[in-house]
Amino acid sequence: MASSMIAENLDNIKNQIHQAEQKASVKTGSVRLCAVSKFHPAQAVMDAFDAGQFLFGENRVQEASEKFLQVNQELSDKGIKNLPELHIIGSLQSNKVKKAVAIASCIQSVDRMGLVEEIEKHCANLGKQISVFFEYHTAEDSKSGYENEDDLFKTLERCANGDFPHVIPVGLMTMAPFVTEEAPIRKSFITLRNLRDSIHSRFPSLPMRELSMGMSGDFKIAIEEGSTMVRIGTAIFGERNYQ
Ligand SMILES: *Cc1c(COP(=O)(O)O)cnc(C)c1O
Repeated sequence: MASSMIAENLDNIKNQIHQAEQKASVKTGSVRLCAVSKFHPAQAVMDAFDAGQFLFGENRVQEASEKFLQVNQELSDKGIKNLPELHIIGSLQSNKVKKAVAIASCIQSVDRMGLVEEIEKHCANLGKQISVFFEYHTAEDSKSGYENEDDLFKTLERCANGDFPHVIPVGLMTMAPFVTEEAPIRKSFITLRNLRDSIHSRFPSLPMRELSMGMSGDFKIAIEEGSTMVRIGTAIFGERNYQ
């Protein structure tokens, strides 16, 4: 996609986010935009960065690592010091954690206790703290995320106990069902918000305020229901070419 197109799409999406923020009566600019660049080349990331986009999301660690190494090199060569921020948003195998925490500032797809243990271990080795979102399963047709509150609460209990000093639990992430009716999508976002509120009263010492919810097709509904971060790919970079 042409760089002017990416800039135009970004502009467009930001305007729509601002409108949704107004409708939801939240402060303009309070919802963060994570530009999902999976399956798009380093050049697309460069174009979005040039258009002012700073935060990116990628699903696969190997792809993200190669792409952002290239992006960071090109930007450094241009003398740019403030390099883009990368979040891993796709389900993560334990053997990819070492590489993931080396390149990302946040893992949004934490779906089991074992993964938190692995993240803690590698971040401790690097002397690095990392933010995490816990992915929660709110819709039948999604495969990923914690399946029940008890498992999530067990993990949060250990976070609150100080067992993972290099892991900062900032919030929850979900994917709404891929349907055209609005009701089930809205319901999935409400479920996530209610869960965040109950975590907030149960574990008041944990940050756990963020709600990462909303993609190209449903981000306006997500913002109306309290999203603090939307993850948008297609509406910025165009259709993905899966091969
Ligand atoms: C691909 C992906 C997105 C972006 O989806 P679009 O519909 O292209 O905006 C958001 N979140 C996750 C977890 C994804 O895998």
